[in-house]
Amino acid sequence: MVDLQDAQNAKFQTLRLQRFYLAQLNYLITYVVICVAWVSGQYQGSVWLMLSHIGLGVSTQLVFLALFRSNWNLRLQDPSMTNAQIAVAILLITYLLAFAGPLRGSLIMIYANIMVFGIFQLSRRDFLIHSGLALACFGALITIEHYYQTDTRQFTLNLVEWFILACFLVGLSMTASYIRELRERLQQRHNTLQAHQETLRGMMGQLQNLATTDPLTGLANRRHFLQEARRRMTLMRPTQQMGIALIDLDHFKRINDLYGHAAGDQVLQGFAELARTTLRDDDLIARFGGEEFVLLLGNTSIETLHQCVERLRQRFAEKTFDVLPEGVYCTFSAGLSLLQPEDDLEVCLNDADQALYLAKNSGRNRSEWHDPSYA
Ligand code: GH3
Ligand code: MG
Ligand code: MG
Repeated sequence: MVDLQDAQNAKFQTLRLQRFYLAQLNYLITYVVICVAWVSGQYQGSVWLMLSHIGLGVSTQLVFLALFRSNWNLRLQDPSMTNAQIAVAILLITYLLAFAGPLRGSLIMIYANIMVFGIFQLSRRDFLIHSGLALACFGALITIEHYYQTDTRQFTLNLVEWFILACFLVGLSMTASYIRELRERLQQRHNTLQAHQETLRGMMGQLQNLATTDPLTGLANRRHFLQEARRRMTLMRPTQQMGIALIDLDHFKRINDLYGHAAGDQVLQGFAELARTTLRDDDLIARFGGEEFVLLLGNTSIETLHQCVERLRQRFAEKTFDVLPEGVYCTFSAGLSLLQPEDDLEVCLNDADQALYLAKNSGRNRSEWHDPSYA
């Protein structure tokens, strides 16, 4: 579970870094634009001022990179640091625009480019806050400029630029809302689909259970026993052998006749419960049909198999049932046989059945084993 969580965290961290590198591509484009503006003589500041733009951009981004690389960002409420990255980019671009001269009108759209970066990540509130920050920064810039140079025509142009920026940001925030809605709907659909999948998995589990389990006793059913026994046979080493015991409750018809079918059912359940607690987890016990059960023991000898069945037989013979009058006990007879890797399962079951027949004929409440040399 912890590993799964770690893998998920690592995946998210990779995605965050990918997004960060994508932002760096945008920074790179901006640096190229600055250089072109400078080379073409449109940039108003000195070469050092121009280099200060690039230097500031690179150094702030190196800080973000270090935070990501050291996983320090994971301590934050928003590990993607989208808010901080966007705020820094807005401040940097405002600084650039202060010296962009006649190119400002076209470069102003970089604000919108920055906001696109937050479309998928930012909440509606944060998106509006950052749009407000961009407008406030640019507004402050043109106000300060107007304070120092009182060219009214230039100020009017700046105000129109501010207005255009505001219009674009409103449009962008509408697009962002629409995309957010789509994402939420998609997420909802994804959740519903996942819930359906869970239900389906549960139903498949129930179906599987129904197909392999006997409903009265909760033990494996005959079909599952045969499948599982064949599977275990394929895993046997050549020298290994498994033990099979066919168990049939004695005079069970009488129990039904004397105490009712429901009492009979309780006895069958009681046997199943006892078998479950007496046998080991990797022993396979199944209801073979009616009042017959079958037991499969892995890697065993006839002695061990015999001991195991005898232990179960003695406990069952001593077991009391609420539904039966005091002093009334149930017993079973069992037929044992051994199963080697090359054997036929049906033949082995038949051998066990013959041994069971022998046990019944020898007085019941006993276990007999099939002796191949005897047959
Ligand atoms: P034996 O010692 O020779 O095995 O005698 P028996 O009476 O146990 O054998 P028989 O085959 O004559 O009867 C088996 C009985 O088991 C008959 C059937 O009604 C009963 N039985 C089979 N399945 C169930 C069940 O699910 N519930 C109940 N209560 N009885 C069942
Ligand atoms: Mg029977
Ligand atoms: Mg019987």
